[in-house]
Amino acid sequence: MTSAEISVRSSELYDRACRCLATGVSSSLRRHVTSPPLYIEHADGPYFFDEDGVCRADYTLGWGPLIVGSNHAGINAAVARQLKKGYTYGCQHTAEIELAELIVDSVPGIEQVIFSNTGTEAIQAAIRIARAHTGRDKILKFEGHYHGWLNNVLVSYRPKQDDSTLPQATCGGQPASEFADTLVLPWNDIEAVRQLFAERGPEIAGVLTEPILANSGSCMPKPGYLEELIALCREHNIVSIFDEVITGFRVALGGARELFDLQPDLSVYGKALAGGFTMSAVGGAAEMFEVLRDGRTIHSGTYNGTSLNIVAAIETIRELRKPGTYQRMEEHGQAVSDAILVAASKRDVPATISGVGSVFSVHLGVKTPPRNYREMLNSNMSLYGKFRQAMLQRGVQLLPDARWYVGTQHDDEVLARVIPVIEPSMKDATQ
Ligand code: PMP
Repeated sequence: MTSAEISVRSSELYDRACRCLATGVSSSLRRHVTSPPLYIEHADGPYFFDEDGVCRADYTLGWGPLIVGSNHAGINAAVARQLKKGYTYGCQHTAEIELAELIVDSVPGIEQVIFSNTGTEAIQAAIRIARAHTGRDKILKFEGHYHGWLNNVLVSYRPKQDDSTLPQATCGGQPASEFADTLVLPWNDIEAVRQLFAERGPEIAGVLTEPILANSGSCMPKPGYLEELIALCREHNIVSIFDEVITGFRVALGGARELFDLQPDLSVYGKALAGGFTMSAVGGAAEMFEVLRDGRTIHSGTYNGTSLNIVAAIETIRELRKPGTYQRMEEHGQAVSDAILVAASKRDVPATISGVGSVFSVHLGVKTPPRNYREMLNSNMSLYGKFRQAMLQRGVQLLPDARWYVGTQHDDEVLARVIPVIEPSMKDATQ
């Protein structure tokens, strides 16, 4: 059966949506996930139920945020309590302080935070702080890294394959003047950074990096790479910024800071922070926020610190702080990864996995985990696409870019559903 045949109602809804909702979807990337896009009627724990009545185990987690699952009792109760007390105040409230205290207590080296709504926004806040702090304009980012959809960072996200690292627009409507202060290098190449800093260090305000390249194949940093990156930044008075929108509260409670035992100047959080509610944050040492206190720059937003999002984040972090949480996610991810590798090997398909248990990417057709965007392109995505389609038909929802998200809701029951369908799906994909 094709997905159109099992998604009759979603097809109808998509046709209806296309008449009034431009493109039919609310985020461009969602256009190409399934054909038609799936319409979800409700979600519960680890399961998504679509409008055609099909239940699927979900490993997309809303592209990352749903780290404690849907319909979570603690989040529901906290949000319901808060609903009766008001939605948003445009004033201060105690839950904000509670959340800030929880984050400071959970993440190594974070002394203070500011709150925004989306990852895109919080990244911009971090860039502005870095610029105000240093009095410099340039920002360095790396090929294949995603830091939101704004023009100054949606640069060389999917660069054309030539030898140049000249910054490239990712889509139409991005004038070069809007990323004239953005520099780009390949990732995981410390010598390239050293050379750039030697030549242009005094112009550079900050360096943005995903600490694990989750947006392009979940590439892991080479041993020592991030340490050296931070050290080089310190040497040249450049602000180091970890974009932990994916890794934060996911790869460990303290995110990449904890996993790699590193303290960049600033870290940016979103997605898993509020378990599916719209919340983001920038954190760092107190001195990094001096530029806000002394009025050199500002950070504003009508919905910053909105009470419903704040209480959802508090409940999410409380759930994540329970003993054994991260070990269970790691084990679940490992069990799924192992099953994929076994299934691939039985079909004589070279395969490897990169990332960690709670967020990893499957690479078919290659044996060595990629270390940067260009290496990631060697993976056989058309084969993976067939595998994903076969999994979808057997009740498992996956992202198109071969990334799997694991959350606390992925228990043994989910595993018992998923493991048996991996081999037949790989078989379908390869015949
Ligand atoms: N940074 C990273 C690493 C991300 O993965 C994303 C979203 N995929 C963003 C920033 C932007 O976050 P948002 O979509 O919430 O604006």
